[in-house]
Amino acid sequence: MASNAAAQVPREAMEFDVVIVGAGPAGLAAAIRLKQLAAQADRELSVVVLEKGSAVGAHILSGAVIDPKGLNRLIPDWKEKGAPVETQVSEDKFLVLSSGGAFRLPNLFMPPLMSNHGNYVVSLGALCIWLGEQAAELGVEVYPGFAAAEVLYDEKGAVVGVATGDMGVGRDGKPTDNFVRGMELRGKYTFFAEGARGSLTKQLVRRFELDKDHDPQKYGIGLKELWQVAPDKHKPGLVQHTFGWPLDNRTGGGSFLYHYGNGLVAVGFVVHLNYENPYLSPYREFQRFKTHPVIRTTLEGGKRIGYGARALTEGGWQSIPKLVFPGGVLLGCAAGFMNVPRIKGSHNAMLSGIAAAEAAFAATGAGRAQDRLEAYETAVRTGDIARDLKRVRNAKPLWSRFGTYLGIALGGIDMWLNTIIPGVGLGITLKHRKPDYATLKKAADAEPIAYPKPDGVLTFDVLTNVSFSGTNHEENQPVHLKLTDPAIPLSVNLPEYAEPAQRYCPASVYEIVTEADGSPRFQINAQNCVHCKTCDIKDPSQNITWVCPEGGGGPNYAGM
Ligand SMILES: Cc1cc2nc3c(=O)[nH]c(=O)nc-3n(C[C@H](O)[C@H](O)[C@H](O)COP(=O)(O)OP(=O)(O)OC[C@H]3O[C@@H](n4cnc5c(N)ncnc54)[C@H](O)[C@@H]3O)c2cc1C
Ligand code: SF4
Repeated sequence: MASNAAAQVPREAMEFDVVIVGAGPAGLAAAIRLKQLAAQADRELSVVVLEKGSAVGAHILSGAVIDPKGLNRLIPDWKEKGAPVETQVSEDKFLVLSSGGAFRLPNLFMPPLMSNHGNYVVSLGALCIWLGEQAAELGVEVYPGFAAAEVLYDEKGAVVGVATGDMGVGRDGKPTDNFVRGMELRGKYTFFAEGARGSLTKQLVRRFELDKDHDPQKYGIGLKELWQVAPDKHKPGLVQHTFGWPLDNRTGGGSFLYHYGNGLVAVGFVVHLNYENPYLSPYREFQRFKTHPVIRTTLEGGKRIGYGARALTEGGWQSIPKLVFPGGVLLGCAAGFMNVPRIKGSHNAMLSGIAAAEAAFAATGAGRAQDRLEAYETAVRTGDIARDLKRVRNAKPLWSRFGTYLGIALGGIDMWLNTIIPGVGLGITLKHRKPDYATLKKAADAEPIAYPKPDGVLTFDVLTNVSFSGTNHEENQPVHLKLTDPAIPLSVNLPEYAEPAQRYCPASVYEIVTEADGSPRFQINAQNCVHCKTCDIKDPSQNITWVCPEGGGGPNYAGM
């Protein structure tokens, strides 16, 4: 925060019909649909999109195999318009890994909804850049480099827009010579499309009790490297998923290898954040995974050209909160529309953006503002998103209850039954029992894990990899990882859980350093943060709050 004097400088305000926070597939689809509808009806409609990344796409990290359903509905002639969606899936492979071997599951056994036939391997970041261009051409004001830092409310408590963060605030919280007050962007409706664990979304969920009567949201952390592989190893359109080694049966997760473009392979590893062992490091599990004989063979002779990490939502149907509140809605992964067994959320993100746009367009046309867009909630809960998510709703709870092998088998049966009687399956909806921060065992009851040292060729240390994320933050700014109680890392987390932040953070932001007198000190290297949001989710004391740093800071992903 700036000093009181600076914070009291009034903010300039701009008025829009719709303000959208986040230029991911959800936010951009909403912006495009709003402008398409306005053009069709020959109506003036002002739409603004704020994006905290330095450019559209800079903070997008995904697989990605996309189901083109959302894109087809938004821009049916996307091919003719040159969307960067080129590599069609040619082969689907599912492998179960043991420490030295691999067993391929016959595709015939897989529920049909798991098939990637008709899907495309893309860089979601590149697709968002293209969507951003389409939006700008339609007259949407797209502002990258501006983080929405605060929700604005009117006297009745309705959301009336957002404010961007102040720039040029020093590490000590005082304005520097570069101080620039944030802007208010006010709208008849504000769409929150911040992706998984949005920082403003979290506040809204609390304030409006949007998660009341819904299961807790569940999450995974996805780590990804982009590899340029040797030409003879590249099989364009091959989509390979694995589960099993190196994770044990009680730790959910798996991997993906997607071949696309010109010699590119997206290598990713997801660890479900309900893992129990505080000594587990998702990053180091990922590195170890690459050493498996069937994985290393693809990567040997190639080079890693990108790295990043991002949380993804895994709660599915039963964790979707109330989506609407006075003046605003939640879109995409901010609401949790990820289909976990399919590892796909971008199609639902776009479909949700389209549905919200249609609801807001009708409402503003009827002279409404700052009320609840219930038509959007109905569209989501009765439309394609509901159909997509309901049929896989038990997969994650079965995995959590029964472990990887039995859980996946039971989940498969449920998904097969859902294919036969859509939306019914086992006939019940299993609940998610605990939020992810509450699943860690005490360190005293857990087994430390010895990870191999990185070799610098196939496996890398964290900081070298972080340098491949292009992460950059203005150093002289307040730390954006806020501790509610600064004593907790050393007084609770270290003795009880061996401070797991040292291991779950994929960018080595959190360290326990030893002072000259031998005492431990908790250090936050905020400038390394890749904005994955895992600390906000997994800290067992719920003591860390991720807030937006200065706009433009964070990773600068290229082609992720
Ligand atoms: C490792 C991994 C693999 C995945 N694989 C696939 C896949 O193969 N296929 C698939 O379909 N889906 C996949 N997904 C899921 C997919 O990426 C998401 O479903 C999708 O990106 C959600 O879109 P969104 O627009 O809701 O959010 P996001 O894509 O997360 O976009 C949110 C945007 O909002 C911005 N933002 C956030 N907060 C603010 C703020 N306060 N102010 C300004 N800007 C803000 C962010 O910087 C970001 O650009 C994967 C996800 C991960 C992590
Ligand atoms: S500090 Fe938090 S949000 Fe940033 S990279 Fe680490 S775990 Fe992710």
